[in-house]
Amino acid sequence: MKRILPVVFALAALASFSSAAEAKLRVVSSLQDFASIAQAVGGDRVDATSLAKGYQDPHFVDAKPSFVLQLSRADLLIAAGLELEIGYLPPLIDQSRNDKIHPGNPGYLDASIGCDILQRPTTQVTRAMGDVHPYGNPHYWTDPNNGRVIARAIAARLSQLDAAGSATYQKNLAAFEQRLTQKEAEWNAKMAPYAGTKVVTFHDSWPNFAKHFKLAIVGHVEPKPGIPPTPSHTLEIINLIQTQKVPVILVEPYFDKKTPNYIAGKTGAKVVTLYPSVGGTPEIKDYFSLFDTDIDAFVAAMKGAR
Ligand SMILES: [Zn+2]
Repeated sequence: MKRILPVVFALAALASFSSAAEAKLRVVSSLQDFASIAQAVGGDRVDATSLAKGYQDPHFVDAKPSFVLQLSRADLLIAAGLELEIGYLPPLIDQSRNDKIHPGNPGYLDASIGCDILQRPTTQVTRAMGDVHPYGNPHYWTDPNNGRVIARAIAARLSQLDAAGSATYQKNLAAFEQRLTQKEAEWNAKMAPYAGTKVVTFHDSWPNFAKHFKLAIVGHVEPKPGIPPTPSHTLEIINLIQTQKVPVILVEPYFDKKTPNYIAGKTGAKVVTLYPSVGGTPEIKDYFSLFDTDIDAFVAAMKGAR
């Protein structure tokens, strides 16, 4: 008996270790931003991954076969909603044959719920103009206040799916919120000198960011969200930048810089790459470094602007 006991204990330890590993909740999100927040809130109890990478245009993600496998094993799917993922996610959910993550079931979380969503349509929604923002602006996580709302929603949903982890999720959420509040004060202080600055952006990705940090978006390089630049619209933007003295053009990393550089050449405005998502560049490892990187890039550009 004496000799058997350690073996039994070792086996029991091994069994509990492997069941703990298996018991990790598998969270899959469309965007790395939500995976980052879910990992922070979920801690050791959660394994969070994303489908799209932060350096990709979130509207136009090429579905890979591995996405179906990822979704087939998911306990929770977090999506931006507002039809941001309409081009690729619905068929993948069907192909995954995973009922848990179907919209309407507890394993599906629409992260937009409860967030401050801008540009909600006031009239009948029409896609006639090819607008890819039919239900309001889907790039809302670029406001840290919305990040807080998303973190709370994720904590609540994780607690629902894994009641045993509820205390852990609440503790991790409190730590996330505390850090966010502290970082927000730092970001607000860095951006305060530039309150009211007029900016042009390539895609309409930044209304929430602009609202939070008090920038004034006066135009877009795209004539409409999802519609590539046209010569006549580019001319309008050049005139706009000249008459309104716009110092910077903010460009998401996945767009061709040809038109922004052309506009910059005509006007003297500075082209700045701003990253809408975690993973946009290797240094943006989480939701906090997303704002760190973007704000530092913006401030550096403003200091160098005319
Ligand atoms: Zn968009």
